Amino acid sequence: ESVVYWMRMQDLRINDNRALALASAQAQKDNVPLLTLFVFSPQDYIAHDRSARRIDFTIRNLQHIKSSLEHLQIPLYTTTHSPRTAIPSHILSLLNEWNATHLFANIEYELDELRRDINVCELAKKGGKVACTFVHDKCIIPPGDVYSPFLRAWLPHLASKSHPDPLECAPSPEANGKSIYQHPVFGKLFNVPVPEEIEGFTINDIVEKERIRTCWGAGELVAKEMLSRFLHSKARTSQLGVVDPLADGAKVPEKSTKNTRIGRYKDARDKADADTTSRLSPYLAAGVISARECIRATLEISGNKVDASHETGVGRWVQEIAWRDFYTHVLALFPRVSMGRPFQEKFAEVRWETDEHLQAWKEGHTGVPIVDAAMRQAHTMGWMHNRARMIAAMFLVKDLMIDWRLGERHFMEVLIDGDLASNNGGWQWSASTGVDPVPYFRIFNPYLQSKKIDPTGDYIRYFVPELANVRGDDIHKPSAALADKLGYPRPLVSHEEARNRALRRYKNPGTE
Ligand code: FAD
Repeated sequence: ESVVYWMRMQDLRINDNRALALASAQAQKDNVPLLTLFVFSPQDYIAHDRSARRIDFTIRNLQHIKSSLEHLQIPLYTTTHSPRTAIPSHILSLLNEWNATHLFANIEYELDELRRDINVCELAKKGGKVACTFVHDKCIIPPGDVYSPFLRAWLPHLASKSHPDPLECAPSPEANGKSIYQHPVFGKLFNVPVPEEIEGFTINDIVEKERIRTCWGAGELVAKEMLSRFLHSKARTSQLGVVDPLADGAKVPEKSTKNTRIGRYKDARDKADADTTSRLSPYLAAGVISARECIRATLEISGNKVDASHETGVGRWVQEIAWRDFYTHVLALFPRVSMGRPFQEKFAEVRWETDEHLQAWKEGHTGVPIVDAAMRQAHTMGWMHNRARMIAAMFLVKDLMIDWRLGERHFMEVLIDGDLASNNGGWQWSASTGVDPVPYFRIFNPYLQSKKIDPTGDYIRYFVPELANVRGDDIHKPSAALADKLGYPRPLVSHEEARNRALRRYKNPGTE
């Protein structure tokens, strides 16, 4: 007999992993081996516009996990399976082969994944041999437990000494007995390597692959160091762009919180011309570190006081983690947002332009420097600064008047931190169609935004080499003559005209 933990793309870690901890406890109780399983599903990756970068990141993390689990004599078996509709029966046949009595997994809230898991439960029930347990793990507070206004309702959960404690760390798994290596079926699972790549999702360009791997090292240790770098060390402007974020003295702790990244976060988080945020999103999206661990670490800094004020760096950062929970709650409670529908149905009829300018936007050739810097950052690093995401997204929707769903898809295809809930939330915010949208008549002026988020111009100069030698305000809005001279495109649209068009179309969806 055995107990099986099924790891998925959003919980790639051993520490503080609830389903894994429960599976381990069950295996200990029943005195049977714990086995772990990961199923690659290329069809799902196509359906969800998964980037090759994200799949590469998944593989690299699984390689770390496999070797860490081996120290505990726990095998990680990986398999690639399609069609995706056959995954439930494939899992059941594996469970039968392994004579499993229990299956544990953390819940994924996306609709297709929920349907798949229900299917697994039904098949297991029919077979009558395997008990399935799916638990909440991704969010600090499980979806459904918090209502609007979100933050006010979310915070007391952290402060309360209620049971279960939402921040409690799940115990690490216990080792299997060494005899598992001799077992005729389980012993062989150790010999199945994590694949080097998944067909159709490889980063073909070697330079690009190296660049992405430099920016985003894999493994729980790296995620912890990234957290520590954010909480204890000084922000370094030299770290803007493509560098190993853990090199260059990044780990040297600062004595005072005045200079740490988190200490400066309240004021500096909206600046893209310095490296001031945590860059933990790829690790949080893939579950390489738990959100609980992030909050627990901030409690140490704030003297065990739950701080979510606007006034401190810690407070602002905790709020960002709350946003992550918020968008996952929206996805779980309103599945239509993952079906390409606007949350506010009245905007379903807004008339979009044809996607004539879509390619120029994707490639960062719109002629608006801050938008181009943002898009090229995404292309180069697989990641984008939050405020830059907002500006680039709003420009696509309100200035180019292109359907936000095309932008949402492009972000998933290019970002390493692509997360359906947060990405959809961000896009619906920018398109003014979401739960908590910017009102449709508040349209960013990209040139004014540029001065705010890139006051030095270093962000644009780094990512838009055509403008590398431009100084002063010209960097934000080069004249036509300067642009022509430098081989930089002129703006695709006039912001004022585009703004008026967006206002008309949003005011009268369906008729304008
Ligand atoms: P920090 O500022 O250090 O924040 C810490 C963590 O809080 C982040 O890692 C992230 O997990 C969470 N967080 C911060 N801001 C938000 C937010 N607005 N919404 C949800 N969670 C947040 N984030 C993703 O993780 N995946 C996405 O696919 C994604 N797509 C986005 C698309 C658009 C159009 C917009 C406007 C935002 C999107 N975000 C997405 C949110 C946000 O931009 C990133 O989480 C953030 O830039 C990551 O950088 P960081 O880790 O340094 O963030």
